[in-house]
Parts: sequence; C-alpha cells; structure tokens
Amino acid sequence: MDCLFCKIVDGEVPSTKVYEDEYVYCFKDIDPIAPIHYLVIPKAHISGASEITEENSGLVAKVFEAAAKIAKAEGIENGFRIITNCGEDAGQTVKHLHFHLLAGVKMGWGKESVNAVE
Ligand code: AMP
Ligand code: ZN
Repeated sequence: MDCLFCKIVDGEVPSTKVYEDEYVYCFKDIDPIAPIHYLVIPKAHISGASEITEENSGLVAKVFEAAAKIAKAEGIENGFRIITNCGEDAGQTVKHLHFHLLAGVKMGWGKESVNAVE
C-alpha cells in the first residue's frame, strides 16, 4: 500500500519523532500552523475517522492516551487542541488516520475556526 504515514512509521520516509510506543507514533508536522504542531497516529493503517470500528477503536484510545503523555512530557501546560480531518470537505490530504495536536498559542473557537472556503 502506498501510504505516506505507513512509510513514516516504517522509517522509509524520515520524520522528526516526538513519541513512540507499541501502537502509536507521533512526529512533527512538516508545515506547522501553530508553534507546536504534532501528528499523532496509530501505527496500524486506518484510512480515516470514518473507518473507525468496534474492532479498531481501541487504537483511538491509545492515540489519546499517548497525546496526554506527550502534552505532559513536552511541557504543554496551557492547553492543546486535537483535530482530525476526515474526507473531502474537511480537507483530509493523507489517508491514514491522524490527529493534529496543536498548542503554544491561544486559539480562537467559532465559525472562523472552520475557515470555510466556499
Ligand atoms: P490533513 O490535511 O489533515 O490530512 O493533514 C495532513 C498533514 O500532514 C498536513 O498538516 C501536512 O503538513 C502533514 N504532512 C504531510 N507530509 C508530511 C511529512 N512528510 N512529514 C510530516 N508531516 C507531513
Ligand atoms: Zn497508512
């Protein structure tokens, strides 16, 4: 399967690792939109949030456990935001489930957060 994030997990494509355990890999986003912008992903390939099932949802819990650990380890004390884009309208560009962990700036919340393009 030609999946960029599977290749990052396998070390075939380089990344800046932040955290790794048996189920989860976390690395720096190559094009950050916040002072701290990490991607937290399950190592196993799931194409996106619409493909989460009873069988694989335990991996999502592992991702969130890892995110809490990462926030503590990286000294993120003022809060963070976790986002997953799924499908075309949300602008998902990489079809391997990933959670953006954003921090280091006071973020707005409201209609403008959606950043509608049309
Ligand atoms: P999304 O648009 O939600 O699918 O997010 C994909 C994210 O992957 C974007 O924020 C990209 O900047 C990021 N990205 C793409 N290629 C790489 C890469 N090789 N290493 C790190 N981040 C990447
Ligand atoms: Zn993949």
